[in-house]
Amino acid sequence: MSAAAFIGLGNMGGGMAANLAKAGVAVTAFDLSADAVARAKSAGCTAAASPAEAVAGADVVFTMLPAGAHVRQVLSEAVFPNAKAGALLIDCSTTDVETARDMATAARERDFRFADAPVSGGTAGADGGTLTFMVGCDAADLAAIEQALAPMGRAVIRAGDPGAGQAVKICNNMLLGVSMLGVCEALNLAEALGLDAQRFFDIAAKSSGQCWSLTSYAPVPGLVPAAPSNRDFAGGFSTAMMLKDLKLAQAAAAASRTATPMGAQAEATYALFERLGYGGKDFSAVIKLLSGSLGELN
Ligand code: NAD
Repeated sequence: MSAAAFIGLGNMGGGMAANLAKAGVAVTAFDLSADAVARAKSAGCTAAASPAEAVAGADVVFTMLPAGAHVRQVLSEAVFPNAKAGALLIDCSTTDVETARDMATAARERDFRFADAPVSGGTAGADGGTLTFMVGCDAADLAAIEQALAPMGRAVIRAGDPGAGQAVKICNNMLLGVSMLGVCEALNLAEALGLDAQRFFDIAAKSSGQCWSLTSYAPVPGLVPAAPSNRDFAGGFSTAMMLKDLKLAQAAAAASRTATPMGAQAEATYALFERLGYGGKDFSAVIKLLSGSLGELN
């Protein structure tokens, strides 16, 4: 890959585009936010004035956008009409499965290759180039996709045909939402029982309660240096994004008649937290809702 376009330079896309540029790829970057484009420029990308301009010379087009509606719009209005014939389109956003399948079909009709490649690893993974990519694609395209994603991650795993990456991601994030609520409840109870948070963390991290929400993303400051809890829950993975994913999971559960009572509870809890005005806070800030101390959030 000699030239790439990157559209969507937010909490995740900013770090990902920077890692591509650092690896020597010529990255042309676009975002609706001028600040995000300026950050990408200082990280070594070339700024584009429009998505059409960004994709014009690219062999690979990456998108990292909030949700399926944004992906549909950017691909159909800017990428399909302006990208080079045969370009590889890799959508790293988290979307519904149908969006991924529809975009794969539309891409194929126009002689593009498409992969849904949602990610796990959070902003620390995006900044550090250690993301896991779960990929839905035609098997024949996997080698090219692996090569394109290599500078941004440490694992590229094909889940199946287009849409399968998003299916894995939706299940993973339902598990993440549930596990974060469990971690918050445990830390709140530990405090109420007079335990020191660090002492509880050290023991639980080596016990059966260990999970990513605790040991990579603890919602109490001072336990995991990179966790958003250390910076008043700014940046990271927003509550609004988590709620979006939990809604996708509940829609998929309803359509497939799968019982997901914990997922439903997580959706209800995050819906309340967002409704109270905290959609922009990292999703681990929900610990303040559960401890009855929302006043501590800025
Ligand atoms: P974000 O809101 O920080 O970034 C999204 C960016 O897209 C913003 O900069 C916004 O200006 C830009 N954008 C929106 N519409 C656009 C358009 N039409 N054209 C160009 N740019 C546009 O979100 P994020 O946290 O970076 O998440 C991006 C995706 O990654 C989401 O689908 C999310 O679910 C997923 N994700 C996020 C995390 C995380 O920890 N933040 C982890 C895994 C997956």
